Amino acid sequence: MKRHAFTAAAFSGALLGAAMFSAPAIAQERFITIGTGGQTGVYYVVGQSVCRMVNRGSDEHNIRCNAPSTGGSVANVNGMKSGELDMGVVQSDVQYRAYKGEENFADDGPWEEMRAVFKMHGEPLTVVARADSGIEHFSDFPGKRVNIGNPGSGQRNTMNVLMDAMGWTEETFSLASQLDAAEQAAALADNNIDAMVYVVGHPNGSIQEATTTVDANLIPVTGPEVDELIETYPYYSKSVIPGGLYRGNDEDVETFGVSATFVTHAGLDEEIVYETVKAVFENFDRFKRLHPAFENLEEEDMISQGLTAPLHEGAARYYRERGWIE
Ligand code: GLU
Repeated sequence: MKRHAFTAAAFSGALLGAAMFSAPAIAQERFITIGTGGQTGVYYVVGQSVCRMVNRGSDEHNIRCNAPSTGGSVANVNGMKSGELDMGVVQSDVQYRAYKGEENFADDGPWEEMRAVFKMHGEPLTVVARADSGIEHFSDFPGKRVNIGNPGSGQRNTMNVLMDAMGWTEETFSLASQLDAAEQAAALADNNIDAMVYVVGHPNGSIQEATTTVDANLIPVTGPEVDELIETYPYYSKSVIPGGLYRGNDEDVETFGVSATFVTHAGLDEEIVYETVKAVFENFDRFKRLHPAFENLEEEDMISQGLTAPLHEGAARYYRERGWIE
């Protein structure tokens, strides 16, 4: 009897132990990392803002979000592929090419695991040139010192396509530097480059820095080659950078552009993506106030435009619940 009693006690003790052991497992924190861009761009604010919304609800869902600075769109795609990043902000043209395995992603092949979450703000190809550089139009680039962007950036990816269309190579310029987005404005002010190229939402800290530290102009990117790119590729469209956003730049400037998009991969847990989009759209007015480039965001456009990859199941579940999709 004694032995039995002891065994029963040990047995229930073991059960209790198992229950206590599994309790922290259920409540375990899950960490997600969102790839952004340079700290003076808008992607950084996108990542920080999404995390802010997610982390407001951490007590309930136990998801903790962080959004470090990265090299930009292409670095974010590569980071998600390698598992270092869970989500990322990516230009719509980069999303298209990465998903389909085209152009700069041809060697990698299609990344069919890519999943779309939502579209963000518009990103015009933005060229800023020193006022003393003699650059008045994008076609004045040959022979000049141009920062074509770091290889992980979206602007570098877009520039490669544009340079091909123009019949240009790196040798076309007297210098083709590969500085990170956050380093460009200082290089322009220090007269190390004549022009910087940034595919970015407006207003942003980088262009503000460039135009306040030196006399510099936003430069039009137009012409038959650009028109042809817009006709050929679904993700390019004409775009105007409004005048009055930056010192000494009061006129509208014509260029072409893409959209920023928020993406992930099929392997990320459905619950995490569901909670992330829920956090954004349930605090949407608060979210939109976090950056002037978010001001005009509309839910309907965000879930239907600029997305090549299929929606992640966790995002689709939330959009269905809201009645936004079937
Ligand atoms: N479009 C840029 C890129 O893909 C980043 C712009 C930003 O950081 O706001 O690298």
